[in-house]
Amino acid sequence: MSHFVDLILPLPLEKRFTYSITYEEAQFIKKGMRLAVQFGKNRIYTGIVADIHQNPPEVYEAKPIHQILDEKPLITREQLKFWEWISQYYLCAEGDVMRAALPGAFLLESESVVKLSKDVDIEDVILNDEEYLVIEALQRQSSMKIQEIESLLDRKKVLPVINKLVEKQLVDLNQEIYEQFKPKEERYVKLNPAYEAESEMHRILDELSRAPKQREVLLTYFSLTARSKKPLKVKTLVKEAGASSAIVKGLLNKKILVEFYEEIDRVQFQGDIGNHEIKLNEFQQKTFEEVKTNFEEDKVCLLHGVTSSGKTEIYIRLIEEVVNQGKQALYLLPEIALTTQLIRRLQDYFGEKVVVYHSKYSVNERVEVFKHVRENDQKGKIVIGARSCIFLPFKNLGLIVVDEEHESTFKQFDPAPRYHARDAAVVLANLFQAQIILGSATPSIESYFNANHSKYALVELKRRFGNVHMPEVEVVDIKTAHRKKKMKGHFSERLIEEIRASLMEQEQVILFQNRRGFSPILECNTCGHSPQCPNCDVSLTYHSHNNQLRCHYCGYHIAMQHQCMACSSSEISTKGFGTEQVEAELKALFPKHKIARMDQDTTRGKHAYEKIIEAFENHETDILVGTQMLTKGLDFRKVSLVGIMNADNLLNFPDFRAHERSFQLMLQVAGRAGRTQKRGKVLIQSYNPNHQIIQQVSTGDYEAMYKEQLEERYQYQYPPYYRLIRLTVKCRDFSKTNEAAQWLAMALENVFDRNVLGPEFPPVARIRNEYYKNILIKIPVKQSLGKTKQVIHRVLNSYKAIGAFRSARVIVNVDPQ
Ligand code: ADP
Ligand code: ZN
Ligand code: ZN
Repeated sequence: MSHFVDLILPLPLEKRFTYSITYEEAQFIKKGMRLAVQFGKNRIYTGIVADIHQNPPEVYEAKPIHQILDEKPLITREQLKFWEWISQYYLCAEGDVMRAALPGAFLLESESVVKLSKDVDIEDVILNDEEYLVIEALQRQSSMKIQEIESLLDRKKVLPVINKLVEKQLVDLNQEIYEQFKPKEERYVKLNPAYEAESEMHRILDELSRAPKQREVLLTYFSLTARSKKPLKVKTLVKEAGASSAIVKGLLNKKILVEFYEEIDRVQFQGDIGNHEIKLNEFQQKTFEEVKTNFEEDKVCLLHGVTSSGKTEIYIRLIEEVVNQGKQALYLLPEIALTTQLIRRLQDYFGEKVVVYHSKYSVNERVEVFKHVRENDQKGKIVIGARSCIFLPFKNLGLIVVDEEHESTFKQFDPAPRYHARDAAVVLANLFQAQIILGSATPSIESYFNANHSKYALVELKRRFGNVHMPEVEVVDIKTAHRKKKMKGHFSERLIEEIRASLMEQEQVILFQNRRGFSPILECNTCGHSPQCPNCDVSLTYHSHNNQLRCHYCGYHIAMQHQCMACSSSEISTKGFGTEQVEAELKALFPKHKIARMDQDTTRGKHAYEKIIEAFENHETDILVGTQMLTKGLDFRKVSLVGIMNADNLLNFPDFRAHERSFQLMLQVAGRAGRTQKRGKVLIQSYNPNHQIIQQVSTGDYEAMYKEQLEERYQYQYPPYYRLIRLTVKCRDFSKTNEAAQWLAMALENVFDRNVLGPEFPPVARIRNEYYKNILIKIPVKQSLGKTKQVIHRVLNSYKAIGAFRSARVIVNVDPQ
């Protein structure tokens, strides 16, 4: 009797691949283990055992495996089922899912590059001879390929040796230059030890009698540290003393206080936890109970709670309950970079039970989280992170929270698997019989539709925490303002007045503009030419700080031109405006105030994002200008005014979701205003102030937006009434792109008839010298999704058989965003 295994290989293959194993191996191998196998001519890959059986493959002779890499399964049964679902639903290879799901360190292969981990101290570890040889070699050269290690050790099967070194965290595999996750540091102060004696204390207090503010701060310091002897955060001191950080600085200069830095988590875990007892208010409590009732009926819960209603506190309580039952919780966020505030809140409450997982973390860190989660140990209880967290090997998942569920960043765009983490999370929860809550102040139309059609349960929370009012919204007609000459640059007089008023009251302002850069388009007044990217079909954007014209798709840039490149005329003007220009105009309007900008250009550096947020939190900046980065879940206390510079370019975006998105974006930014007692104000500038979406934002009327959009979706046959699958042909050759797309469209029309749209070029039809052309398939709800996908599969297989189209790749996107 022969034995076989079906393996998932980390390659875009249609099928699993079968290998033969010996009787002894069959006794040992279990589903979910890693095996190294040969695939192709000489390549060795890591495959995951998906099945063990006794049926030889029909069309090829099964090869023996190369070696076994695990002693027990690395991948759980639930994960295998989940991968299978993703690959079937999103029409991609299981191998694509495997690559997305596993940290690179688990993907040993013949092409792997091995490097010494940072800061390893080999004095402390026990190595066998071979391990020692490898480490020693790596100390001399920065990296080694598997083949080089094979010749170093003079044997063929070296992967187990490397596997051991990876486990001992001495080497990294396939490590790209990832940013190392470093815990954030917090500034602390303590009394200069020279003054600790009581007599000294009295002496300095006397000395400070002519600096009453500093004296006040010092007294506050004494009273705060009298209770606990813990070091004091500068932030706390400033807050409690009601002083400015400049006064603390004065004390530091006089060397009465000394400052030092500590990593936030290390300090917090020394007993700060648990002091943060949460008492839900009556509205939150009611919502919490409702959610639990629905959970008992195994319903997916959609929590529609206005901004600042305290949804996070409800999540925390729900998480607490499952963790107390020994289960795990997953907290999904649209973007990890934007959530330092939230991580802090959860860690304050749950301490080291909270782990953060992010694809940008170093391989070792990801491996570590992976292990904690698989063991469900103390550090693997609560996972926060962006979409890729759904691939962690949960042992006993009890709850999933999808925060800001409407965000389109939950959908992976490139590469495959092009999954939607919110929708996949519902499936994942189901696999574990876990509870799942989707939350938002502006739910996606799809989720709200599901809730209205009893597929999900709807729970609402309409009151802001602390009875803070929703901000007042005012719309400024900038068409009229322009005509009446009531504009200064891109600022209406109303907006300037309101900014001035807020600044007078020592309050802060947020200004939102949906574009970065200075101005999107440079145009010649004589011949109409505007400089284009040579690699992409887009105009270059002017960036004033480095005087460049840049492509936002491929990064191509040239120096700013002062003459038209076509006709040499010097009559050049700019069209449209971005955050950089808003910032520049603001600086001219309010020269005495501190202004910061938050967009992709200012948040590239390591902790750039956190620094901007922190400076704003500490009121070191007065006005923050930014793109949609500003909208996501930030909680600022002293923002009384939010200005939306131009609502129109959001609304005019050519996409069926543009109106829904504009509503969500504007309401979310508006939600940053007035989070404390004083009522906040939102000013929306628009050329089209009567636009229904702007009206709905003004009244905060989600229902009206939903009804109207739903009507349009029905009429034009879009989700949730129709499902969409988009095929994109991508090729360097223009005419081949056309031919291939045409062929595909015809083949699909034969079956789906009028439900095939296109082929059509997208608004940006060429990126990095590759052409893109789309075909959209609309699937009525009644039509079987499974059968539809089978047809698409068949058509794609015939397509792949056509030699002439080999260079034109097809990308399949199910439920495109
Ligand atoms: P949302 O996520 O709904 O926008 P948050 O959860 O950020 O709202 O809550 C808004 C603010 O109210 C936060 O500063 C939060 O700390 C505070 N808050 C909410 N609920 C409570 C509570 N039960 N006790 C104390 N503070 C609360
Ligand atoms: Zn010109
Ligand atoms: Zn470009």
